[in-house]
Amino acid sequence: MSLSGKTAIITGSTSGIGLAIARALGNEGANVMLNGFGDPAAIARVKAEIAAANAGRVDYHGADMSKPAEIADLVAKTNATFGSVDIVVNNAGIQFVAPVEKFPTEKWDAIIAINLSSAFHTIHHALPLMKARKWGRIINISSAHGLVASAEKTAYVAAKHGILGLTKSVALEASNTGVTCNAICPGWVLTPLVQQQIDARAKAQGVTVKQANDALLGEKQPQLQFTTPEQIAALAVFLCSDAASNMQGTQLVSDGGWTAQ
Ligand code: NAD
Repeated sequence: MSLSGKTAIITGSTSGIGLAIARALGNEGANVMLNGFGDPAAIARVKAEIAAANAGRVDYHGADMSKPAEIADLVAKTNATFGSVDIVVNNAGIQFVAPVEKFPTEKWDAIIAINLSSAFHTIHHALPLMKARKWGRIINISSAHGLVASAEKTAYVAAKHGILGLTKSVALEASNTGVTCNAICPGWVLTPLVQQQIDARAKAQGVTVKQANDALLGEKQPQLQFTTPEQIAALAVFLCSDAASNMQGTQLVSDGGWTAQ
């Protein structure tokens, strides 16, 4: 399978799951527009690394995904640079953990903006471009927390449930246009977003990082292992394939049994 001639925007692709998806789509020959925060030298290295392994071209746009005008520019610049926007992976995300009574309003607003509203904005701008070319793939990175809840994660759980609703609604509107819109729901994936939570638990409970790690997995996942970023990336590649062309408004779950309980 090849995605050569297609162009993919992957939001939040300077780290973790997004970076793995950018590498995987690049390996399939797609042009890649990277996005996310980070050290400019590290981003330049990632850009060069993907370009070296990839038949397509690679660029970077530093849009802050909490800012609608910057998101509009991300889509417009990608279209201008590569000539199309065929694949959008809405992946950028942040986490904050606190009881609802103590949850800071600015953290709520930031999580809803980055983890949910940003996907509305990318889709709003990219869907017309995809429809015009009669082919497109929109992939929204939700979570096991899109299907079930955990305490002290109100904003994240609301955003991840919301993105599944957005996915279904866009899927209905995109049907019979050549564009599909689906979601991926990972369980625990060991990335900086989760490592921060493990480190915070170790500190709060006075246990080692290894003990906090094992407790985090044991609490939620019958399979006591992390899903890897590369496994999530393989699902994204699958959703871009012809084999997935009749998947519309659904989700692929890789959560070690978390939501089977
Ligand atoms: P990560 O922290 O490794 O990466 C997050 C990425 O988002 C980074 O590139 C970061 O720069 C970018 N980002 C953050 N705020 C941004 C902003 N305002 N504008 C642009 N980019 C921004 O996290 P990850 O674990 O790879 O998470 C990626 C996605 O996967 C998130 O949506 C997350 O909710 C979801 N997810 C992660 C897990 C997990 O266990 N790690 C599980 C389920 C879902």
